[in-house]
Amino acid sequence: MTDIQIAQSVREKHIREIAAILEIPEEELEYYGSNKAKLPLHLIREDDVENGHLILVTAITPTPAGEGKTTTSIGLGDALNLSKKKTVVVLREPSLGPVFGIKGGAAGGGWSQVIPMVDINLHFTGDFHAIEKANNLLAALIDNNIQNKTRNLGIDPRTVIWKRCMDMNDRGLRNIVAALGGKAGGIPRETGFNITAASEIMAILCLSKSLEDLQEKCGNIYIGDTWDGKPVYARDLNAQGAMAVLLKDAIKPNLVQTLEGNPAIIHGGPFANIAQGTNSILATKMGLSLGDYVVTEAGFGADLGAEKFLNIKCREAGLSPKAVVLVATIRALKYHGGKALNELTQEDVEALKKGMPNLERHIKSLQSFGIPIVVSVNAFSSDTEAEKKTLLEHCKKLGVPAALSYGWADGGNGCVDLADLVVEAAAGCKGKYTPTYELRDSIRTKIEKVCSTIYGAKNVILTNKARAQMNRFERMGYGQLPVCIAKTQKSLSDDEKLLGRPENFEINIREFEIATGAGFIIPIAGNILRMPGLPATPSAEHITIDADGTISGLF
Ligand code: ADP
Ligand code: MG
Repeated sequence: MTDIQIAQSVREKHIREIAAILEIPEEELEYYGSNKAKLPLHLIREDDVENGHLILVTAITPTPAGEGKTTTSIGLGDALNLSKKKTVVVLREPSLGPVFGIKGGAAGGGWSQVIPMVDINLHFTGDFHAIEKANNLLAALIDNNIQNKTRNLGIDPRTVIWKRCMDMNDRGLRNIVAALGGKAGGIPRETGFNITAASEIMAILCLSKSLEDLQEKCGNIYIGDTWDGKPVYARDLNAQGAMAVLLKDAIKPNLVQTLEGNPAIIHGGPFANIAQGTNSILATKMGLSLGDYVVTEAGFGADLGAEKFLNIKCREAGLSPKAVVLVATIRALKYHGGKALNELTQEDVEALKKGMPNLERHIKSLQSFGIPIVVSVNAFSSDTEAEKKTLLEHCKKLGVPAALSYGWADGGNGCVDLADLVVEAAAGCKGKYTPTYELRDSIRTKIEKVCSTIYGAKNVILTNKARAQMNRFERMGYGQLPVCIAKTQKSLSDDEKLLGRPENFEINIREFEIATGAGFIIPIAGNILRMPGLPATPSAEHITIDADGTISGLF
């Protein structure tokens, strides 16, 4: 059965039944149909947030297919509910870019999914659309200000970094010339589109602690410079109020359910390279207010997702996980051990052993945070007994608890062993995590600490351009912001071809971007696209709908 067939085979509960599990009074629900509801922010209670068990799911360096973090998060959540722990899975909303491109859905897989999966993968409750509108309102205000002869801020159009956005992989919009058509069309300038998940508004929505905070963060967005080189912010255009109004519903977390009828909150979806790669702070806090356990995921491998989850999101929110689940697959470890992508279903214990240093490096990096770690081996049907035994024995040798998990094949029942280890690990958690760097460290020191402690790099090299940008940000007063390093997810290094556990490598920071609204500096290592393109055969070509509205081909 395909993921969509499995999702369609399960009877959905009315969302009011899911809310009842969490003791949410029915009148608090803002219904989006019978299977989705938004939750008002006043349901967040800081005392409960403090006492809850936050469990972070991350992964080793992934193969292009993904190693099953979302699937494991949902399976683990269902398993914890089976063991009578009141658990909410809290995840990101998928972007339409990957849905119609190549990656597949982001609502889990097999028997560990969140539903309604079609809605969640498509328009859902309209959050992405609202983010797009807020983003594009600011863009319109900027061009309008440049156009106005008497009432303008003197913006130098060549310096405007704020782009429009759309939730689609569309390389044709990456770089464009806007405002054509003579006098009435505005002042032509070079600009472009980002995909919505890469928009700073997405990052802001997910780091906001309240509606007021969201409005203030929107005002703090740096958009470009005046002709005399002074920075211009969204607040100089009086944009933040209207932007926040457009986001008044998008800021509220969305309640849905897992295939097993357990509560799930899906909210916000920033990318994990140029942004923090995890759902909103408010959704995480909502989950912790309503349940005793929250299982959440951070994008890509632990070097990107977990690092940013802890150093950016948890720091901003005052959160700290009680355990970290590191998802590993036998397939990916064989890939790191030199086996070709199309041969990963063949048994190869030697390649598996050769790939183990990638797992070891991620364990070592995660240990630097001082939070208990559990390895979850996401089992595939092609894994052999000899391979499973080798991997589990290796984890034992490393002194890290590990369990096989079968969430994809068996749902919650397949993740009971993992759930037991997670409960035990969380109970043994000694306190708050230790961040990799302090905010008062210089920008350069922050980057160096992440590169050495988390990636295992030898040193960091900055181009002249990057150095000049870094110095300007420090002069502008942004030296205290955390860093959000944009790097390939395919390697611990900045060279996607270096698999396994690269040693003695340098990280090259080509340039910087800054997100003064969201509140982080983005050192860019390598080529990172904020507007991806579609592959030669986009998955969009396989999607159809019949007369009754039944959809096929969507995963
Ligand atoms: P991630 O969140 O790490 O990107 P996902 O959980 O989204 O990974 O899984 C990526 C893809 O792999 C999905 O299409 C999912 O259905 C599939 N998948 C995950 N785990 C398994 C498994 N154990 N067996 C087969 N397919 C799996
Ligand atoms: Mg995922």
